[in-house]
Amino acid sequence: MATSTVILLVFLLGTLSTVQCQHEETKPGLVGNSGHIDSIPVNYTVSALIERANKNAGQELDDPEITEGDIAVYTGLQNADPCTSRGCKWRRSSDGNVYVPYVIANQYSQREKATIEKGLQSFAQSTCIRFRARKKERNFVHIQSRGGCWSYVGRRGGGQVVSLARRGCVYHKVVQHELLHALGFNHEQTRSDRDSHVRIIYQNIMRGQEHNFRKKNTNNLGTPYDYGSVMHYSQNAFSRNGKPTIVPIPDPNVAIGKATEMSRWDIMRVNRLYKCKQ
Ligand SMILES: [Zn+2]
Repeated sequence: MATSTVILLVFLLGTLSTVQCQHEETKPGLVGNSGHIDSIPVNYTVSALIERANKNAGQELDDPEITEGDIAVYTGLQNADPCTSRGCKWRRSSDGNVYVPYVIANQYSQREKATIEKGLQSFAQSTCIRFRARKKERNFVHIQSRGGCWSYVGRRGGGQVVSLARRGCVYHKVVQHELLHALGFNHEQTRSDRDSHVRIIYQNIMRGQEHNFRKKNTNNLGTPYDYGSVMHYSQNAFSRNGKPTIVPIPDPNVAIGKATEMSRWDIMRVNRLYKCKQ
């Protein structure tokens, strides 16, 4: 194949492949079908909540297939997903803010809607991201209760679904987590430098879920590896046997994946990727 064909192919594949957020884990002791989301202890980690809610994600007829995109890895330059260097960032306005239009489906209760809106507005407190109700903009995030908690990575063009299932996903930290995906960020433990900070224990990972631990060729925007990122999986993510799949090094007892909101480094990454004025 001619080099130009290869480049074109890589570009197309990279454009089409969306790294989506999917976590799937069954935790012993979790009541999977007990109904009301208020019965879920608030202290569940963000990834445990997402994993729990995504048990059957991708099975609804019109849900996209939930996979981690891996092709974009070869072309990447940015922390965030490599697509951020190819145009999947949201545009910065001349006033320095990045306006991201949103629509919230009318599936939610008032209370759920308030939680989602609080998550959206939280970005305005520490970054130049301004989620605001869509008027006529072409590109926007469409928040819906679909099968599980998931998002595309980066701006896709047109209306892009961010799924926050009513059962299990409407929590502040999950809202922030999924929106960070939509802004272009991947999971922290897939960073290019993760092997210096965590050890992945493959023999404890559920069969077929190994792709969730695939490392990406990221530039990390000058930020340190962040165990406290709201984008970091918890220690037992996708465990097949209840044993850890991610062990911090050198100190295995460091807490990971327990963030209840964006860490200062999550905020810093948003500000650096979008060149927000500090
Ligand atoms: Zn995720």
